Amino acid sequence: RDRSIDAADLTALSGRTIGVIGFGNQGAAQAANLRDSGHAPVVGNRDDAYAASAAEEGFDLRSIADATDAADVVLLLVPDEVQPELVRSEIAPGLRAGDTLVVASGYNFHFGLLEVPDGVDVVMVAPRMIGAAVRDRYVDRHGFPCFVSVERDATGRAWETTLAVARAIGGTLGGAIVSSAREEAALDLFSEQAVWPAILDVVRTAHRVAIEAGFSEEAVLNELYLSAEPAEVFAHVARDGLFGQLGLHSRTSQYGQLRALRALESHDEQASRFARVMHDDILSGDFAREWSRPEAGERLDALRREAGESPIAAAEAEVRARLGP
Ligand code: NDP
Repeated sequence: RDRSIDAADLTALSGRTIGVIGFGNQGAAQAANLRDSGHAPVVGNRDDAYAASAAEEGFDLRSIADATDAADVVLLLVPDEVQPELVRSEIAPGLRAGDTLVVASGYNFHFGLLEVPDGVDVVMVAPRMIGAAVRDRYVDRHGFPCFVSVERDATGRAWETTLAVARAIGGTLGGAIVSSAREEAALDLFSEQAVWPAILDVVRTAHRVAIEAGFSEEAVLNELYLSAEPAEVFAHVARDGLFGQLGLHSRTSQYGQLRALRALESHDEQASRFARVMHDDILSGDFAREWSRPEAGERLDALRREAGESPIAAAEAEVRARLGP
């Protein structure tokens, strides 16, 4: 596969200090992997419980500004929503020409929310894996998918640095995937704003129709998701293929699923809606602008309240209270 890389030269990092900014899900895992790959990262974190665990694990713990100052290669591993302000106030002042800023998601850089000084390389090393598994799959050598890209090559050596960082955190064990901040951010947002809402809506609609047909809440909710059967099916989709996993279902189920899927193929309203989400909301930057507005947090709180008060959420709480978690 010409888009995959399964090994990389670590010399691009020799003599350079790596700073891990944020010792959270990704930061703790990546710092441990870097250390086991022979590096001695400095860790920058606010003074709190995460900082205490970094110190307990024997890392060279400093303030965020001091760690950035000491580092030549800075891994930005704090939550996306705090990055723009943190980069402006504590990280940009410590970045010098020739340094590398490594992001683990493409959103902020692609949508122009990070102010990175001139002369600094900006690259992406984005594991497609939760932090705990980034560590476990480094230790057991299974690896994990990892998107890599160069967003700004000020030094002419940004690719070597990107691949070396990816390898040092275990991101090439499974073959790194050449991508871009635009692609990574857009696909992430597309899953969140097209795929998952459609899946949640399918469940919500199915619940309404089945209840209206006179079936009980506990039977309907267990059939739909409380039994965790859909989680099992999705695990098999990843392992055996979207249709390969059908062999695990009865022949009656296979016939019913495929016959109904065939009938759906003639409907392209969903494709048009998905295309509008991709182009009008995501790639245009409209969503990123809306989410950057100060009032967006309050709107999220209101939307969460509304979802929490929906009929399916109320029914789920009632069934759980009766049948246990
Ligand atoms: P976490 O929420 O686990 O990171 C928390 C870290 O950020 C902690 O060290 C926390 O320190 C620090 N932090 C939080 N708020 C602030 C603040 N205002 N100022 C300074 N430090 C702060 O983040 P993740 O590890 O989940 O995400 C880090 C990056 O990795 C993001 O870009 C994310 O998109 C990306 N990523 C995450 C994945 C995941 O599965 N989680 C997968 C792939 C990429 P404190 O102790 O002070 O709270």
